Amino acid sequence: VPLNEKSLIARIRRQSTASRRVIQGIGDDCAVLRIPRGHEVLVTTDFSLEGVHFRREWHSPQSVGHRCLTRGLSDIAAMGGKPIAAFLSLALPRSLPQSWVDKFIRGLLSLAKRFDVQLAGGDTAGSPGKILADIIVVGSVPTGKAVLRSGARPGDRIFVSGSLGGSAATVRQMMSGGKLNPLNFTAHFFPQPRIALGSQLREKSIASAMIDVSDGLSTDLTHLCDESGVGAEISADAIPVATVGKVVVNLDLALHGGEDYELLFTARQPVPNRIAGVPLTEIGRVTRKKGIFLISGQRRKRLTAKGFEHLSS
Ligand SMILES: [Mg+2]
Repeated sequence: VPLNEKSLIARIRRQSTASRRVIQGIGDDCAVLRIPRGHEVLVTTDFSLEGVHFRREWHSPQSVGHRCLTRGLSDIAAMGGKPIAAFLSLALPRSLPQSWVDKFIRGLLSLAKRFDVQLAGGDTAGSPGKILADIIVVGSVPTGKAVLRSGARPGDRIFVSGSLGGSAATVRQMMSGGKLNPLNFTAHFFPQPRIALGSQLREKSIASAMIDVSDGLSTDLTHLCDESGVGAEISADAIPVATVGKVVVNLDLALHGGEDYELLFTARQPVPNRIAGVPLTEIGRVTRKKGIFLISGQRRKRLTAKGFEHLSS
């Protein structure tokens, strides 16, 4: 049985690291945050639902906690911002062992510590069914400088960080019954939010538009193009396809698989091969004509956004 709310909160409070941007964290009616002078506030919220985003038989509680916070941090990265504080609302079934909750919190807090993010509040409740975790991350960005999805213009080059499809390929392997060592499949179990990359792309005025790849390249590129009122052509050969457990991932998973938490951005100029230690690959161009097209050899076919199905299929 999980601890009652009071002792759970006391436990989180003891383990959470203090950030100088948090004037008042857990223990009052609201958190009080200090936003740096000349900055605006970024806020993002994301669900992590048992059976949709994770399964207890596949994911360690540490991985669930880590991935829960990654979802929020990755959104802050995609705006070119820096995270300040996180807020966590948890609904837990009564049958859940307290050790699961402890490890979940440990996974979340160790990532938070790495990015100097304080867990500054939240809520807990009993869940009649499965585990539900909702993370809110608050960050900041210099006024007027947030990198939006809407800044892409025809002729811009399209780039993506890291590699794609690794997370979805890992899910496929687990679905087909493989028991995986999480240490060999970190793209899925312990993805790294691209905070340093995102803020450098903003500081150096490289990115004209940006989004994180949470739902899959085809879907997230569609979001970016829709917001910018443009289309895109991407080259199949250029897609940085992930290698998972020594196997090169299928191109379809790299195009449509979600939860890689890489950054997808457009730029007016060529971009270095690597920024903040993360490899960058040019995959195509922004076009005036709407729609997204995949070029492979002589063939040019329309790429439709296949929404990421998470674990439900
Ligand atoms: Mg996002």
